[in-house]
Amino acid sequence: MRPAIKTLGSEGASSAMRVSFEFFPPKTAQMADTLGDTIERLTPLGPEFVSVTYGAGGSTREPTRETLEKVLATGSTPATAHLTCVDATRDEVDEVARDFMALGIRRFVALRGDPASGVGTAYRPHPDGYENAAALVAGLRALGDLDISVAAYPEKHPESPDLAADIDMLKRKVDNGADRAITQFFFENDTFMRYLERVRAAGIDVPIVPGIVPIHSFKAVRNFAARCGASVPDWLAERFDGLEDDPNTHALVASAVAAEQVFNLVERGTHDFHFYTMNRPDLVFAICRLLGIREDTEDDDRLHAA
Ligand code: FAD
Repeated sequence: MRPAIKTLGSEGASSAMRVSFEFFPPKTAQMADTLGDTIERLTPLGPEFVSVTYGAGGSTREPTRETLEKVLATGSTPATAHLTCVDATRDEVDEVARDFMALGIRRFVALRGDPASGVGTAYRPHPDGYENAAALVAGLRALGDLDISVAAYPEKHPESPDLAADIDMLKRKVDNGADRAITQFFFENDTFMRYLERVRAAGIDVPIVPGIVPIHSFKAVRNFAARCGASVPDWLAERFDGLEDDPNTHALVASAVAAEQVFNLVERGTHDFHFYTMNRPDLVFAICRLLGIREDTEDDDRLHAA
């Protein structure tokens, strides 16, 4: 059973907190509108960076590029491009990286990606491609002075035989030049803390930033979690049980669950959070408010001066 929610209170935490937001490229005009609104709502919160996902084999190259341009157009937020190397030659991947760099991108999340045949099907490197994310990190490093993040898996990647092999792979990525790792989402903070201990014991000293998924739909998150090897504890399922047709209560519970997870991690020494926004602003905006992170407005300045 998780402890009851504990807020940070008046001591706040905003000055030490750093957040980043992840978006995916929209598939329809309506989704593009929603994403536009989300960018407009969340970027004034001053995230460390905003990242945009990238489909396997270059399948979202243009939409990813367009979304990066939208973020860059805010003029204030560092944009980060995810880049996968699955189903592509090295030259093709390098060319996409150079194309994004020409836009002004200096930050990448270097990923292997999943085969077009689907998550969980056997991965085979392209004969002329980067073998895995570690090789991609080295390839990106050779292209310029870049900030490079990689993926980490507190519950291990489904293809890893065990956590030790998984941490070995993370070490290879960091040894090849990764600046930080962003984790797959998780719900048990103890799991993350134990993982962090093992990562540090393995000599990995880059920041490990927890990936937080606000639960817009418990059913969708549970299905996704099953595919990517993240466990969904019973206590969490119980909280959402019976709320499928009650969106208002579902959203309130989701907000409380995410806030509780984040506050508990803050208490345990975490100051950076990466939010999988699912291109929707409300839950993430609310959690940032609770963390004391808010947009700088003239009204605020007047309030503080008073
Ligand atoms: P790697 O680090 O290369 O490998 C993943 C794991 O597989 C390793 O930990 C290792 O233990 C195991 N492994 C790899 N090779 C071997 C081997 N030869 N033998 C034994 N074990 C091996 N996917 C997208 O398509 N687009 C995105 O934009 C995207 N963004 C993501 C962002 C984050 C923060 C995270 C956590 C995931 C993201 N993914 C994305 C999903 C990711 O592409 C998949 O999880 C993919 O299956 C693994 O990619 P990786 O970069 O972690 O791979």
